[in-house]
Amino acid sequence: MVPEYDVAIIGGGIVGLTTAMALTERAPGPKVAVLEKEPQVAAHQSGRNSGVIHSGLYYRPGSLRARLCREGIVRLVRFCDERGVAYTRDGKVVVATSEAQLPALAELERRGRANGLRGVKRIGSDQLREIEPHAVCVEALHVPETGAVDFGDVCRAVAEVLRERGATISTPFRVENIGVSRSHVAVEGSDRSVTARVVVNCGGLYSDRLARAAGLDPEVRIVAFRGEYYDITGPSADLVRSSIYPVPDPKLPFLGLHLTRSADGSVHAGPNAVPTLAREGYRWRTVRPAELLQSLTYPGFLRLAGKHWRSGIAEIIRSASRRLFVRSARELVPELDPGDLSRGRSGVRALALTRSGELHDDFLIEVGPRSVHVLNAPSPAATSSLAIGAHVADRVRQVVDLS
Ligand SMILES: Cc1cc2nc3c(=O)[nH]c(=O)nc-3n(C[C@H](O)[C@H](O)[C@H](O)COP(=O)(O)OP(=O)(O)OC[C@H]3O[C@@H](n4cnc5c(N)ncnc54)[C@H](O)[C@@H]3O)c2cc1C
Repeated sequence: MVPEYDVAIIGGGIVGLTTAMALTERAPGPKVAVLEKEPQVAAHQSGRNSGVIHSGLYYRPGSLRARLCREGIVRLVRFCDERGVAYTRDGKVVVATSEAQLPALAELERRGRANGLRGVKRIGSDQLREIEPHAVCVEALHVPETGAVDFGDVCRAVAEVLRERGATISTPFRVENIGVSRSHVAVEGSDRSVTARVVVNCGGLYSDRLARAAGLDPEVRIVAFRGEYYDITGPSADLVRSSIYPVPDPKLPFLGLHLTRSADGSVHAGPNAVPTLAREGYRWRTVRPAELLQSLTYPGFLRLAGKHWRSGIAEIIRSASRRLFVRSARELVPELDPGDLSRGRSGVRALALTRSGELHDDFLIEVGPRSVHVLNAPSPAATSSLAIGAHVADRVRQVVDLS
C-alpha cells in the first residue's frame, strides 16, 4: 500500500511543530501531518511556561541541551523577526542571596563561559542596582543574552508556516494506537486513522506511553511536575525590569522560583515544582487514579521520592501557602507588596525518570522501527525548539529516505 503521508508527527507542541517545519523546509518536501489531541496547538507545556528565552547558562558543557539551546536561540530570534512574533532581549540576573550560594554561582559562571555565552559577568550589589534596582544580592551574575517570548505565539506562527507549505495539522486527533508494519505505520485515533512511512512521537507528557504503543521499551518513564505562578500587578510590577533568578539547588532539576517580565510586559513569580496527581494535573483537584498508581508503583519514582522527600514536602507546603510563596519571591525583591501578588496560571513539566531514580539530564531522542521518539524535552526545549526540530528531522531522514 502507499501510505497517505510520508511523516506523521504526534503532538502539536513546539517540538512537534518545529520538527514538521524542519522536514518541510525544502520544496517539494515530504507530505507531513501533525496530529494533536487538543482542539488547538500549544495547549500543554509549550503554551504554559515561563516564556524565557534561555541563554544556555545552566547546562552541562557538551550536552545536547547546551548545544541545541545556543543554536536554538539564533534560529528562534531569526524566526520571530521574519514572522513578526514579539520578543525581548533584556537579559537576566541570577542573584546569590547568601555566601553559601557563591560556589554554585561560580559554577554557573563557569558553565556559561564554557557554553559560549556572551557578556556573562559577575557583579556586586552596586552594579546589580543599575540593572535591577530593587533586587538584592551578596553577588550576582548578569546574563545579557536572556530574553522573553510567548512560546504559544511561536507555535501559532510555526503552524501558519506549515499550513502555507501544505502540511496537515489535524486537531483534535488523539492517537490511541500505533501499528508498525514492514511497509508503513498506522496511527490510529478514536474515530479515524492515518498511515505514514514513519511516525515521530513528540507527545510530551505522554511520550513514554506513545513509545510503548509503537513497540519500543523506553528505559525512562515520564513524571509530571507542576509549576505554579503568581501574577504580580500594581506598583510591585514596576520593581522587576526583566528576569531575576535565584541560584538553583544543584541537586534539583529546577531553576528555582524566579521573577519574570513577559514579552507582553506582564510580571510573574514562579514556577514552583510540585508532584502532580495526574499527568495533566494543572490543579491539586485534578486526580487520575490510574496515572497516579502507575507513578507510585514505578521503582524510579519511589527512589526519587526517597532521595528528595524533604524538598518535595517543602514544595507542597509552599504550594498551599500563599505566605510562603510570597516570602520566596521577596527573597529576590524584598519590596514586593504581598497585596500585589495573586495566584495565576500553572504548567506541568514532563521529565524523564530512569528506573534507578535519576532524572535524565539531557534531551533524549530514541529511534525505533519506522519511528523516532522524543522522550525528554524539558526546559530549555522551547528556546531550543527550532534546533531540536532540525535535529529530530535528521534522525527521521536516517530512518526513511525522504529525498
Ligand atoms: C512550568 C514550565 C516552565 C517552563 N519554562 C520554560 C522557559 O522559560 N523556557 C524554555 O525554553 N522552556 C521552558 N519550559 C519547557 C518547555 O515549555 C518545554 O520543554 C516544551 O514546551 C516541550 O515541548 P513539547 O512539544 O515537547 O511538549 P508539549 O508542548 O507538551 O506538546 C506535546 C503535545 O503532545 C500532545 N499529545 C500527547 N499525547 C497525545 C496523543 N495521544 N495524541 C495526540 N497528541 C498528543 C499534547 O496534547 C501536547 O500538545 C517550561 C516548562 C514548564 C512546564
